[in-house]
Amino acid sequence: LVLPLSSVFRAVGLIQRGMGAYARVEQALTLPAEPVEPTTPRCPGTAPAVRVVPREEPVLELRDVTFGYDPDRPVLRGVDLTVPYRRQTALVGRSGAGKSTVFALVARFYEPDSGALLFDGLPATGLTRAACRARIAVVDQNTHVVHGTLRDNITYAVPDAPEAEVRRVVELARLDDVVRRLPGGLSGMLGERGGTLSGGERQRVALARALLARPRLLLLDEPTSHLDAINESALARVMKDVAGECALLVIAHRLSTVQHADRIVVLEDGRAAACGTHEELLAVSPVYRELAAGQMLRPASGPLPAAGTAR
Ligand code: ATP
Repeated sequence: LVLPLSSVFRAVGLIQRGMGAYARVEQALTLPAEPVEPTTPRCPGTAPAVRVVPREEPVLELRDVTFGYDPDRPVLRGVDLTVPYRRQTALVGRSGAGKSTVFALVARFYEPDSGALLFDGLPATGLTRAACRARIAVVDQNTHVVHGTLRDNITYAVPDAPEAEVRRVVELARLDDVVRRLPGGLSGMLGERGGTLSGGERQRVALARALLARPRLLLLDEPTSHLDAINESALARVMKDVAGECALLVIAHRLSTVQHADRIVVLEDGRAAACGTHEELLAVSPVYRELAAGQMLRPASGPLPAAGTAR
């Protein structure tokens, strides 16, 4: 009796797992297809492939962008946003203000209902989605670590990256400690789902992976939780360094990580309601003051804390 019963239980478990997997596959298969692009999108009078981009030009601009998932209920209403090269720009706002929607438009998962997106001064509508995405790297909250070595995880998208480049991003993402600690260093195994790393370290592995592609624009959705003070301060320092290499646009859920950003944009009611530094916004933006008060933040004083220093 025991043997047949245990076989039945095993079979039930298998069927349940299979049904879960089937639901996930079905979810992916029923995703709406991206709208078909014109075969040769081209800005009038420009040849995107050969255009030399002045380094000072904003890497990304949103001009008067209005967008709603349902066109009758706009999420963004006439948003203007400029993301300069070698600067850290942060997007803040209450939950549901439209921060992730800005990212979805920049990655061109959706097109604005009106207004324009410009990459390096070129209207996005004149570029293919592939050309836009080639300029961008995205690090979201779901940091994926695959079973393999630390190096495999960093070079996932650029497998033949030169050693010097790998070392550069390891340093930039402040992974030196992990390299020293891991038996085998860069060749050390990370284990299933990166189990040997903390949440903050996994985040920085994802950052290193993104930086290896040398993007013009890095979109970072800062993690909402599970970062201790040491990892939080490490992330703030990495963001500062990364902003020296590209344009950095961060969705900030906690203001402490972005209070040293060059510019902070406050989204409210679908509009860019205020823009400035932490100190300026504390003085002029009631929403920002409310967000800061909720997180018990005072005016930023002095430089960033030293790496590894809990505040
Ligand atoms: P949070 O800080 O909570 O992540 P957010 O500022 O990033 O919020 P969004 O995720 O951009 O806000 O959402 C803005 C609005 O758009 C919300 O009302 C949300 O319910 C709606 N929304 C977001 N994604 C979709 C979608 N795929 N389809 C329909 N509505 C959506």
